[in-house]
Amino acid sequence: MPPSEPSNSRRLIVLGSTGSIGVNTLEVVEFLASLDGGLQRRFELVGLAAGRNAERLEEQAARHGVRDVAIVEPAGSASFDSSRRIRTGIDSARELVRDIARPGDLVVAAMVGSAGIPAVLEAINAGCDIALANKETLVAAGGLVTAAAAESGSRILPIDSEHSAVFQAMRSGNGPNEVSRVVLTASGGPFREWTGAKMNTATVEDALAHPTWTMGRKVTIDSASLMNKGLELIEAHWLFDLPAGKLDAIVHPQSIVHSFVEFIDGSVIAQLSPPDMRMPIQYALTWPDRSSASSPRLDFTELQALRFENIDHARFPAIRLALDVIESGGTAGAIFNAANETAVEAFLQGAISFGRLSELVVESMQRIPVTEADSMEAIDDADRKARELVRNLAGMVPST
Ligand code: NDP
Repeated sequence: MPPSEPSNSRRLIVLGSTGSIGVNTLEVVEFLASLDGGLQRRFELVGLAAGRNAERLEEQAARHGVRDVAIVEPAGSASFDSSRRIRTGIDSARELVRDIARPGDLVVAAMVGSAGIPAVLEAINAGCDIALANKETLVAAGGLVTAAAAESGSRILPIDSEHSAVFQAMRSGNGPNEVSRVVLTASGGPFREWTGAKMNTATVEDALAHPTWTMGRKVTIDSASLMNKGLELIEAHWLFDLPAGKLDAIVHPQSIVHSFVEFIDGSVIAQLSPPDMRMPIQYALTWPDRSSASSPRLDFTELQALRFENIDHARFPAIRLALDVIESGGTAGAIFNAANETAVEAFLQGAISFGRLSELVVESMQRIPVTEADSMEAIDDADRKARELVRNLAGMVPST
């Protein structure tokens, strides 16, 4: 460690710093640094990676004194301070991690999509702990990622609110054998009360109007189709080593109970808090400790109105599809994820209707053979086939 480094601080790299989770993460870091004495947790931000938002990336780097940054393709004419060391291109986040990560660093994985996999694997191989928001990484490459983490001793700390809830609840048991089931809660998204016919013709604006959470566009569309819950079930399978038979989801419109863990003795442990991502982000950062937080407190009178509803599997096929993916194993997760990412892209571009989105994922699962997911090549191959198929079926312009 360089002598100038503040004592009692942990080096932190944020991948996807310009997005919804990234911005909240930097806010949590600043809040924790503002606390007094024993509650204070210091993080030294040493690297930031983004996709296109160069202006915000430069602002963040300047504010936090970060020298090392990565950006896939800077948008507009934003310029960087001459002191920055900048990596660009599709592999830039991985290069950043390769260049600066040290064992024991914490890497926040908050990019969107399976593009996050190489950087996360690089960080794990470097012996970093991962605070994981980027669920697509585990969905597509869960076997490789968890095996690499077991080998390097890296810990994967969930940021997703549901998995943070399960992670917290799991601390009252003694491993997966004591768990009888995990039930993830889903807000139900903007179409919870819509008919199937109305959902089929929903606009992009309708789908982006999430009732309880403010998030990036892709995860917001995923929440409208409940693909997000499907992805989360697969993520939970890898994080907590649970089979499909022990995983389920339920609609809970208020997003206050973030998930349930039922143990074999019938005890159910849940985690409750108002819907605010700063809470699970902070827990991943301070784990295994807790610290004061800036996020709002629960108003207990709200508990009288908590509602839970079964998922309508006819309108939301994502849940059953995801449980099938877990049972299939191999590259099924990579196909499911890539088909969904591409279908979301197609919907956002206006190439397909909302109803077609889930259908394209189903068709991809039916048409692309599942193989062993024992290498990045196998995962990339499945990912490429699913993207090609969905692009063709959706009539999208071929990517170069
Ligand atoms: P956003 O779209 O808001 O942000 C995505 C971030 O990833 C941006 O910083 C973007 O950069 C960056 N990015 C995109 N592609 C690349 C790439 N190839 N390399 C490096 N950076 C890249 O998404 P969210 O913050 O909402 O979500 C991020 C992840 O967290 C997703 O996997 C999502 O499912 C998950 N998640 C999000 C939650 C939320 O509340 N938002 C809740 C739970 C999980 P730029 O903007 O500069 O283009």
